[in-house]
Amino acid sequence: MIKDSVKEILEELTEGVELVGAAKTRTPEEILESVEAGLKIVGENYVQEAEKAFEVVGEKAKWHMIGHLQSNKAKKAVKIFDMIETVDSIKLARAIDRACANIGKVMLVLIEINSGEEPQKAGVLPEDAISLIKEISELENVQIMGLMTMGPFAGDPEDARPYFQKTKKLFDEIKDMNLPGVEMRYLSMGMSNSYRVALEEGANMVRIGTKLFGEREYD
Ligand SMILES: *Cc1c(COP(=O)(O)O)cnc(C)c1O
Repeated sequence: MIKDSVKEILEELTEGVELVGAAKTRTPEEILESVEAGLKIVGENYVQEAEKAFEVVGEKAKWHMIGHLQSNKAKKAVKIFDMIETVDSIKLARAIDRACANIGKVMLVLIEINSGEEPQKAGVLPEDAISLIKEISELENVQIMGLMTMGPFAGDPEDARPYFQKTKKLFDEIKDMNLPGVEMRYLSMGMSNSYRVALEEGANMVRIGTKLFGEREYD
């Protein structure tokens, strides 16, 4: 039961750790059930799925974009989402900034780090993160709130640990720089199989799908 798994995981998480329910492929009704059981943040990978779920769940939850966002979807995305966790380029940040300016909103964003430094993968390379963050911090309708990472796909959660450590180190380094207009409050890392390792390494936001909703039939 979704209800039971939501309660179980919420009980396990210590205070100050945010649970994002990774809801891709789930029906609006399943998402509503999780929210009624206490889930406060719904994470969506696709704007279109988010729009459908938003019609049913609405403002009973906060909405986080956790999938890759194309710049041409920014206009639709900013209407629904409270936070976009996957900003990894100045082009995307500018598209979000413009779309938000049009509707008088400031979008909270996390910078996605390609901690595995894998070509073809989403996220900014760790060594390019600080200059990107400085550039984005100048935008008026975008507010940087922290970092997010996936890490390379790993069967064994221990394999993800070095990438979580690397991202936490970067998070602390940026935090210590006290850059104007930049808050380093959230470190979003860890999924169903790896969130315990992520929490040990300093995550304060975890994105959990399978363990909340059950196995997915497709991605
Ligand atoms: C699907 C997804 C998750 C959750 O994955 P599970 O293994 O089902 O917990 C977390 N983050 C992102 C970005 C995802 O796409």
